[in-house]
Amino acid sequence: MGPIVVLAGGVGAARFLQGVQAAMTVRELTIVGNVGDDTEIAGLHVCPDLDTVLYTLTGQIDEERGWGVRGDSARALERARSLGYDEWFWLGDLDIGLHLARTAWLRSGLRLSEVTQRLGRALGLADCLLPVSDERLRTIIETPGGDLEFQTYYVRHGHRDDVLGIRFQGADAATPAPGVVEALADAAAIIIAPSNPLISIGPILAVPGIRDALLDRRVPCVAVSPIVGGQALRGPAAHMMRTLGHEPSPVGVADIYDGLIDAMVIDQIDAELATDLERRGLSVHATDTIMRDAKARQHLANVALEVAGIRVGK
Ligand code: GDP
Ligand code: CA
Repeated sequence: MGPIVVLAGGVGAARFLQGVQAAMTVRELTIVGNVGDDTEIAGLHVCPDLDTVLYTLTGQIDEERGWGVRGDSARALERARSLGYDEWFWLGDLDIGLHLARTAWLRSGLRLSEVTQRLGRALGLADCLLPVSDERLRTIIETPGGDLEFQTYYVRHGHRDDVLGIRFQGADAATPAPGVVEALADAAAIIIAPSNPLISIGPILAVPGIRDALLDRRVPCVAVSPIVGGQALRGPAAHMMRTLGHEPSPVGVADIYDGLIDAMVIDQIDAELATDLERRGLSVHATDTIMRDAKARQHLANVALEVAGIRVGK
């Protein structure tokens, strides 16, 4: 039987995937990760979303922040700053070590998917983590003050700017990384994690071939709503949906995924939206979707897997 395939952004997805790991004993899991957030810091290739998934699933994540390695020091960056190097993107020492390895391997000619596999294996990741593409793809945020590179918008500006448009630079020429389309075609079920639909899942769907693979699915595709009670639990998803003309609700999320999903898991607080979603031909399950701890993460994963027709092992 084929893998469970999860389309994933950063923190929301990583926590959900922890639940999936806990819920499944024997099944294969393939994670298709966002690379639109990737950036180069002083020449180092940084993949924030892939690394959040990697660190979370290998037990190294700084839970409170949701990114970076728990207990990491910042001596390298402090040294650089003391020398006058002005860097606003925080990188811990252990993190820098990983970026050094990644950058060196990319420079030696390995593809990002090969490098990601190497890093996963070395850190003890049991599942298959694939960047959606090996090619360069960068999310550009259009704001009243002009176009911003994603991390400038998100970190440097604290995602305060109004978002007037989003572009995925390089997406048109990108191809899915080896194994991505194959995993989608073979999947026992497909799940879209609770991630920002526009900037975390959007870049994945923008790679030619991914949307078609989802449209051609023969198994259920289930989305878990990242919007709860009209709000995002972290990040700018709700504000961004509003300025781009989408209703900040599970219904707005469903419209973004129009034709790509069969079912949706929404929070119990949004249960009254079920009829609206069912009218769109979706099957809907309302439950507690706040992933506060391991138990809540496993619960949400269990529900999503069951909705996708997967009998969970535990
Ligand atoms: P990133 O972490 O900034 O890369 O962004 P993601 O797109 O992965 O995650 C942000 C999205 O995840 C936001 O829209 C959040 O509302 C959603 N999210 C985070 N934690 C939870 C949670 O516990 N439950 C649900 N349903 N969504 C969540
Ligand atoms: Ca992200």
